[in-house]
Amino acid sequence: MTKFKKSRLLYTWAFTRRKTTAAIDITNSCNLKCSHCYWWKEERPEELGDDAMVAFMKSLRAKGMTAAIIYGGEPMLRPKMCEAASKIFDHPLIFTNGTQGFTQINAEWILSLDGTKAVHDSIRGYGAHDCAVGNLRKAPRKPVVHTTITRQNRHNLEEFLDELAGLPIKGVGFSFYTPHRTGDDGSLFIPVDERDPILDELLRLRKKYWRILGLTTTMANQFRKDGEFSEWNSNEKCPVNKVCNCYNADGTLKPCTYGSDADCSRCGCASIPLYRAAIRHLDPLALFMIYRMVK
Ligand code: SF4
Ligand code: SF4
Repeated sequence: MTKFKKSRLLYTWAFTRRKTTAAIDITNSCNLKCSHCYWWKEERPEELGDDAMVAFMKSLRAKGMTAAIIYGGEPMLRPKMCEAASKIFDHPLIFTNGTQGFTQINAEWILSLDGTKAVHDSIRGYGAHDCAVGNLRKAPRKPVVHTTITRQNRHNLEEFLDELAGLPIKGVGFSFYTPHRTGDDGSLFIPVDERDPILDELLRLRKKYWRILGLTTTMANQFRKDGEFSEWNSNEKCPVNKVCNCYNADGTLKPCTYGSDADCSRCGCASIPLYRAAIRHLDPLALFMIYRMVK
């Protein structure tokens, strides 16, 4: 049954324009203040209480949204709502910073790690790395690691992959930092025309870390300025927006998971190269990655 539901979800992503996925900010709270995060820099609407949030999620499910990506803030600061989401949706995926631990609920996990201990802590705060990795080692289900590449961690990728290779994870995927249109001082963003050497390095490292490194040549090409980047880097063309609605914690719509001011012309979101490689190019490895990531 699970295999059938997964295949049905992939089919609707590929062949229909139905919004089958909801990306929900389940809380406004976060215990960290990461340097690359837009979250703590913005005002946001008051979050729904528990009963209202459950009713909201059920209403999305009733509209045919079978998959949910649970964000925050830090979702595990509302563990009961994460559990509720895991029961309401067929394909729940929870993004977490890992500091609150992983519980035995029926969901897949994405753990944000940004580098080795010194690098991760310089981005996310002292102690964040050991706390997240300690919880990861005890997790009932292996998560996928997600890493945002910025100027702070771009030079430590091999050392980081070496560490990840020894951890109980399904794999690791990379985004590039996506700046906002206003108020970004440029200290983190890697310009689109500087991505190529990093992508080439990751593809080279894939030979050594093939078991965990989730990047294929077709996926990398979606990020490249002279590749297929121009085919999707706007809100109108964004393929994720075609199948997914993003919601604030009060249930209102927002244009992107990165917030209302995200700069599509400099987008570095990993989900789009993965989606395009798998669904548009039928890249078998990308399809396999999506299949493993979806509950
Ligand atoms: S843990 Fe996530 S939501 Fe919290 S500050 Fe860091 S990136 Fe932002
Ligand atoms: S910034 Fe958001 S809306 Fe724009 S292309 Fe990237 S993921 Fe899509």
